[in-house]
Parts: sequence; C-alpha cells; structure tokens
Amino acid sequence: MGKKTLCRYLAAMLHCESENAPCGTCSTCIKTESGNHPDIIFVEADEKNPLNAERARALVADMYVKPFLAQRKIYIIPNGEQLSPAAQNTLLKAFEEPPPYVTIFLTTTNRDALLKTVLSRGIILSMHGCPASELESYICETYPKRIADAHFLALSAGGSIGTAKRLAEDEEYLAMRDALFALMPRLTGPKSGIYSIVKFFEEHKASLPVLLSFFSSWMRDTMYVHLESEPSLINSDFKSGIADFAFSVSPKSALCCHEAALALAAKIGKGSNFTLWITDFLSEAWRYCHGTDCRH
Ligand SMILES: [Zn+2]
Repeated sequence: MGKKTLCRYLAAMLHCESENAPCGTCSTCIKTESGNHPDIIFVEADEKNPLNAERARALVADMYVKPFLAQRKIYIIPNGEQLSPAAQNTLLKAFEEPPPYVTIFLTTTNRDALLKTVLSRGIILSMHGCPASELESYICETYPKRIADAHFLALSAGGSIGTAKRLAEDEEYLAMRDALFALMPRLTGPKSGIYSIVKFFEEHKASLPVLLSFFSSWMRDTMYVHLESEPSLINSDFKSGIADFAFSVSPKSALCCHEAALALAAKIGKGSNFTLWITDFLSEAWRYCHGTDCRH
C-alpha cells in the first residue's frame, strides 16, 4: 500500500517549485521530507483524540487561513474510516468547495465507511497491497537484525509497508509471539495447562487481536503441516514446534481452533468479561485439540 507515502509524495510535488517536482533537494522538499512544512497538515486521530464533528469544524475553519509559505495548503487525513458520519458531514462543506488554495487527501482502508456524498466529491485512487515477497526483501534490507523473522513479518503485514515497518521496529511484537508459542503445546496436555495460557492472555489484554492472530496462524500452520508435504508456513521459524503439535492435533481440530479464534476476535468487545471469554475460548480449543466437540 503506502497510502501516506503517496500523499506525502503528491504534497511534495504540489509544493516543490523546481521543474522536476518533487526534486527532493530544494528547501521546500527538505521541509516536506522532514515533516516540517507548515503548509502540509497531517490530521492524526486516535481513540483519545478522535476526529469528531468539533475537531472537523476547527479543521474547516483552519482551511480558511491562508498558507504560510507555499501557494497551497495541503491537508492529509489518514484513517478516514474512523471519521464519524457527523464529522464527515462537517467536512463535506470543505470537500465540496474548498478554498482555492486547499488540497485535501483522505486515506482509508475501508471505502464503505465513507459517506457516498464524501466519495462523490473526491477523485478516488485505489491502492494495492505490496506482495509479501517484496515486503520480505524490504525488511531484510532495512532491518538486518530481522532477517530470521522477515518471512513472518512480511506475511503479518497484510501488504502494508507501514505495518511491516511498525512490526519490525516493535521489539514486543515478536517477543509476544515467542511467549505464546512456547505455551501452545499445553493445549495437548492436561486441561489444567490451559490456565497458564489464560493468564498470559490476561497479562496482554490490550494486545488481544494480535494474540488471536498469532494463535490463528499457529493453527493454520498446523493444518498445512498435515495437508502438504512441503508446507508453506506463516511461522516457518517455528516449523519443528508446529510439526510436534500437529502430531497430536488433527487438521480438523486445528481448523476448529482457528475458527474459534476468529469468532472470538469478532465478538469480544469493550466491557465484556475478558477472563470468562478467554477461559471459554481456550477450554473449547483444548477440547478440539483432544479430538472432541469438533464440528467438522
Ligand atoms: Zn523541490
């Protein structure tokens, strides 16, 4: 993908005054590259500071303030899918009739989350995921320390260079996978063994989606070990541990566990009883691993 990178590149192109814009060497390009151009405004939003209708109003008001240095003022709004309908409606005015010097980029991973009225005011550029093999080479070149994990990181990044970078730089991400995978064999032992996994999930509550994706990838790999003689594993660096696990767990059981993890990821929400959900989920997985209760 590289949505933000493309926005930055186009912004640099619009600002640069050289003939071959963006030249990358003029003072404008250097300011843009370092993120210090006052007329390129990144409108970041997160849970603590959402881009709600109030912030959207302030943003529209800001658009009517003329640019400081450049001829244009460029707004980059990432994660458009997080904008509430009220915020989108507030911004609609600016999308319909921005001041003549304003250019707005809005990126999203989910076009359906944007109102039709918003979509109809813009020029839509579709981006495609970067192939895993290219991401893997990129990680190997950029993060030599991560060569052993590059294959896994590339597959986990879902085609996004930004995600691949974030994962490669996040020491905890891989450490969590190591720790969870060290516990996985307990699913094939006595039932009391699952409580150490429950405890691990509780300790990493905030990372539940990541843990569930690791869990699913382990189960997916277990199925592939059964089904293919030369399995292409997501966790190829854990091949022998997964092969040992597959020795005790059938592909059907692994599929049931995989589905249970996806179902949990879809239903767990704020305010639910975390420990209860996780204990239920892991008890279910334990039963599957012992060959009972499997729906397939
Ligand atoms: Zn330039």
